[in-house]
Amino acid sequence: MSSKEARIQETYDALHAMPEVGFEEVKTSAWLAEKIKAAGFAVTTGVGGTGIVAVLKGKEAGPVVALRADMDALAHVVDGKDVCVHSCGHDSHCTMVLTAAEELAAAGIKRGTLKILFQPAEEKLFGATRMIEAGALDDVDIVLGIHLRPIQEAKTGQATPALYHGSSYIMEATISGQTAHGARPHLGVNAIDAAAAAINAINAIHINPVIPATCKVTRMQAGGATLNQIPDRAELALDLRAQQNDAMKALLVKAENAIKAGAATVGATATTVVKGGVPAAEYHPEIIALARQAIQAVLGEAGLLDPIVTPGGEDFHNFVQAKPSLKAGYIGLGCNLTPGLHDPAMKFDRSAMINGVEILEWMVGKLLR
Ligand SMILES: [Zn+2]
Ligand SMILES: [Zn+2]
Repeated sequence: MSSKEARIQETYDALHAMPEVGFEEVKTSAWLAEKIKAAGFAVTTGVGGTGIVAVLKGKEAGPVVALRADMDALAHVVDGKDVCVHSCGHDSHCTMVLTAAEELAAAGIKRGTLKILFQPAEEKLFGATRMIEAGALDDVDIVLGIHLRPIQEAKTGQATPALYHGSSYIMEATISGQTAHGARPHLGVNAIDAAAAAINAINAIHINPVIPATCKVTRMQAGGATLNQIPDRAELALDLRAQQNDAMKALLVKAENAIKAGAATVGATATTVVKGGVPAAEYHPEIIALARQAIQAVLGEAGLLDPIVTPGGEDFHNFVQAKPSLKAGYIGLGCNLTPGLHDPAMKFDRSAMINGVEILEWMVGKLLR
């Protein structure tokens, strides 16, 4: 085992042993801050909550290239006990980004700036937004991310140069009618009738079928303890997904219209609110091309997969939405991961992490040397 390989395993063991949920990555953040400081970076902690920004400047002018890793673990219940587990592999992402940063710093960068972003709360879907609000992306020209992939998508020795996450949002709606005695429904406006009309209208929404997209009601609450009273309030929740941001924009408008117009058919009114979500991936062709070259160089032709489309979401994609001039890229790393992400029993081939480290090093090397 090379010393680099040994360091990867030690780093992973340390991070894996301190899983913390989003915005509570206190130990993880302190541990990473110390390591990245020791590697020679100028470090700012407490960015956007528990986030870290670490900066290493080259001698010559050049682009600002950021490597981003998410730090949070997930809360699970295992055998009836509440536990926190790194079931999305974010500990491996921090391991790969930290090791690549250490290697790049040791070898030295010639031009531009290498910026390391350890981001909180990816799973809560607004850790990236907090980093943006803190100004962490203001001077960044290129940002790179990486994520382990389940075995069905990629195996050890394989990687994709572009992992296309979809967009997903949650919408909530409140429908207001008019209560009345059950014997006199004509004097009221039944909020359940309104919700039913709204649901029918939602289910009749269509988006260009070449773009995968769905919109469905995932919760409906209405009526109370008194069963001979016309209910005046209903609440709906919707899960919306689309593989492209324009399709999501259309879906959000159509869903709002369907709810308001549906409710209006029986004389009710409705308000809607988008409760958060993530945009779809948008990558720069230059960065995808660079990632392709890096994967070929590290894993050979056989290791280079096509771009992968996944319905899962990633808050990383808020970066480009907030700063459209940013060139983004995102590697999906094969590592024989079973049974799946977000499963507390998730396992992967730890020997694959060095592949991720070397792909990131190769890309940054091309950009900053
Ligand atoms: Zn996850
Ligand atoms: Zn994840």
